[in-house]
Amino acid sequence: MTTIDCAYDEEMADKLVEYLNSEEEEGEGEYSATKEKDAHVLTRNKITKKTLDKFLAESGIEGYNVMLSEPDMFILAKKTSVEDFGLAQCEICGFVAFDEELFAHRRAHGL
Ligand SMILES: [Zn+2]
Repeated sequence: MTTIDCAYDEEMADKLVEYLNSEEEEGEGEYSATKEKDAHVLTRNKITKKTLDKFLAESGIEGYNVMLSEPDMFILAKKTSVEDFGLAQCEICGFVAFDEELFAHRRAHGL
């Protein structure tokens, strides 16, 4: 199960649920996405950052980032809100942390 927090963006959450449930028909796995309160989207099966990036690209949604906040939780939020907090994002997995911490994190990927 994966949770995607759409940062109180109800419209985004609706689009995401619709997108994930239509992807399912193409045989990319059963997400069985449902919308919960506070614009949280739950999926029955695990979801990857790649799928969420694809959702943003195919939906023509710009200026949003997919961030991993916990092993099974993503946040979909405006890019500026990340940078405003002095945070940066790992290009590989979407992990968000302060610069120094992220430097160590990237090394774990072998960069
Ligand atoms: Zn990473």
